[in-house]
Amino acid sequence: MEFAAETTLTALPLIADLDTYRADTLDMERDADTREFWLRVFEHNTPSYTQRAISSDARPDAAQRGAAFSAGFLTHLQTIRRDPKAIGYLSIVSLCALRRRYLLQYDFADPYLALKQQENEAALRLLPALLAELDDMPADKRLLTLVTGIFAGNIFDMGCASTIALYENGETDFHAVRARIKPRPWRVDDFDAFAGAFSRGYRKTVMFVDNSGADIVLGMIPFARHILQSGSDLVMTANTHPALNDITHTELVDLIARVARIDATFADALDAGQLTLVPSGNDLPVIDMTRVSPELAEASRDADLLIIEGMGRSLETNYFMRFACDTLKVAMIKEEDVAKIFDGGLYDVVCRFEPADGD
Ligand code: MG
Repeated sequence: MEFAAETTLTALPLIADLDTYRADTLDMERDADTREFWLRVFEHNTPSYTQRAISSDARPDAAQRGAAFSAGFLTHLQTIRRDPKAIGYLSIVSLCALRRRYLLQYDFADPYLALKQQENEAALRLLPALLAELDDMPADKRLLTLVTGIFAGNIFDMGCASTIALYENGETDFHAVRARIKPRPWRVDDFDAFAGAFSRGYRKTVMFVDNSGADIVLGMIPFARHILQSGSDLVMTANTHPALNDITHTELVDLIARVARIDATFADALDAGQLTLVPSGNDLPVIDMTRVSPELAEASRDADLLIIEGMGRSLETNYFMRFACDTLKVAMIKEEDVAKIFDGGLYDVVCRFEPADGD
């Protein structure tokens, strides 16, 4: 199945080596345990995903379409279990794309729309006080608090069973979560190298964002504001099409307009063209950087800092991939199989900084 939006996608010019680039950190092709782990993750998440899809759709046949989506996708996963080559190269990207194909086939546009809006509203109410708290903080503590805030925000993720459980237990208060982030050194901790490079200044930053709600509003927006205040141009890029609770480009445009009404840094940066918002072209909760929008490719060309946030984009698909400019990969680990890559556990955090000219 081909979608119009996908036909115009192109490679991000920041990819260091296009010939060897592969949006895949795990090896489901050769490692049967990894394959089985992820097939189970997708199976396990399907009932709640289906429920979410049905309740997002007011039409009378929603339940029927939801059941057909679930049955079709689960049957296809069984086929893949028997024949790992059934959908071509098997990866988290191809499994996410398969699920999206079924979702569109049964006409579910955006199962998480209501939840995303609700979470953004809740997080926006907390933003002014958070920005004031950051402004009152000694400058030398601010960057570390901001990065810790990214981890705290990134825990809010409806794509993950471990996080859904946190929601159900009511353990989703941002400040409480931030206070409980595991102490440094983190599982991967290049924070000092990043802080050093950041203090020398960047000209242009490209930032891939992840989830709606606390993740974007209380994690990434304060960080983006700090980058703007450092003088760097900033391109914030979000998915073109909905994927789970990831914020979409259209939603990000609305959100930033609202933030600009309460924050002069954002208002001035938008006016001056220092901040631009660009759709990534992506329609998945992970990202293959060889398939981005021409608009993003163009905007990225002269970037000297790339920030990739979230487990799907920074760890599952791009952790081992190198880029031609300084790169920061930040995420909280929310799946056991991802934790294994880092010899860590759930809720370990990764702050990987790769200088363009480093090893
Ligand atoms: Mg996400």
